[in-house]
Amino acid sequence: MPVQDRQIEERLAEAGVRYTAGRRHVVSALERVDGPLSAAELHLEMGGAVPVSSVYRTLAVLEEAGVVEPHHGARGITRYEMAEWLAGHHHHLVCIECGAVEDIELPAPLEVELERLVGQVSSWASFSAGGHSLEVDGRCARCR
Ligand SMILES: [Zn+2]
Ligand SMILES: [Zn+2]
Repeated sequence: MPVQDRQIEERLAEAGVRYTAGRRHVVSALERVDGPLSAAELHLEMGGAVPVSSVYRTLAVLEEAGVVEPHHGARGITRYEMAEWLAGHHHHLVCIECGAVEDIELPAPLEVELERLVGQVSSWASFSAGGHSLEVDGRCARCR
């Protein structure tokens, strides 16, 4: 079992649920793609055999346990992705045409620069920054 899978299993066990085949199926689909997916998109990504309603239930369990996180970027559609402690720190590109959301990981120097800006914005707003996530709106390669 890969390290990541063991961590997920432990996290679910702490939440009192088992890492069933159905839950593994959803997790591996989310790990395979490079951006958050809605329940309907996940249903298609997994080949269409698992009903959307059951994908929803699985996502709710995984979210409750902190294994996946919701993303509310485009058109009011809630999409899900692996939690940051599993997926690593990254940002999002959101297409205003088709609504697709793509993950983007910044090179270290850019991330440092962004961290610095976030610090400045926070202190200007008298806010104590915790994490941050950059969201860039625009058009994806397909819609351009
Ligand atoms: Zn697009
Ligand atoms: Zn993401």
